[in-house]
Amino acid sequence: MKFCRVLKIPIAVASGKGGVGKSTVAVNLAIALAKEGAKVGLIDADIYGPSLPLMMGISDKPKIYQDSTTAKMIPLENYGVKVMSIGFLIEEDTPVIWRGPMASGAVKQFMSDVQWGELDYLIFDLPPGTRRHSANTCSIIPLTGAVVVTTPQDVSIIDVKKAIRMFQRVNVSVLGIVENMSYFLAPDTGIRYDIFGTGGGQRLAEELSIPLLGCVPINQSIREGSDNGKPIVVCNPDSEQSKEFLRLVEIWQPK
Ligand code: ADP
Repeated sequence: MKFCRVLKIPIAVASGKGGVGKSTVAVNLAIALAKEGAKVGLIDADIYGPSLPLMMGISDKPKIYQDSTTAKMIPLENYGVKVMSIGFLIEEDTPVIWRGPMASGAVKQFMSDVQWGELDYLIFDLPPGTRRHSANTCSIIPLTGAVVVTTPQDVSIIDVKKAIRMFQRVNVSVLGIVENMSYFLAPDTGIRYDIFGTGGGQRLAEELSIPLLGCVPINQSIREGSDNGKPIVVCNPDSEQSKEFLRLVEIWQPK
């Protein structure tokens, strides 16, 4: 794969609601891109659940680089991806009411006051949903495109449709839909269980004429990888689940 280094491409990973695996997809997508040779930055803009420090296995705080005129934060790096997170800056018990304004300020700073160096992609893990703070966060980032994550069931699809409309209203092109937790393959019998129903992502993709980039199954190693700071594409790159993320990157070519 060839990458254009002239301009970093800001891409959002978004979802209609929390808990559908948006951060899991953002992290594995970013690492999969890095494995393909891209220079990738990842910004955790999820104020309610900044989970990237844990998922990326980073527990340090960013250092500041200061010369006579400027001070810049140096992003932390793991698995070939440079990361900045709201979680590096706010304490876990910061009241929710303060988080919105802090998040907008922090995201702006992540774009202007961080020494990213050369990047091909800057991926934003957005807060879930379409409420005011998500829309605000969206409006301050000059996004090129968005990847939206959903689970197959109707309640999730309704919410992700709203998220897609939000992007379309601000002229951000939706590059594709990722259906996460699509199905479960029993490791002992190989039987497939459609725990959250089936075909929701496909139907949504057809209805809105947006590509379905991939379907990621529910899998224990994906959950364990996220919790242990070793995402599945790192700890088990040859697994089918990892290959799904790598395929996703192959299909996904932002214009
Ligand atoms: P969100 O960012 O949408 O809130 P997360 O990425 O934090 O969601 O995922 C929520 C939980 O679900 C995490 O514990 C994560 O490890 C788990 N998870 C996400 N995707 C999968 C999957 N495909 N299989 C198993 N667990 C998953």
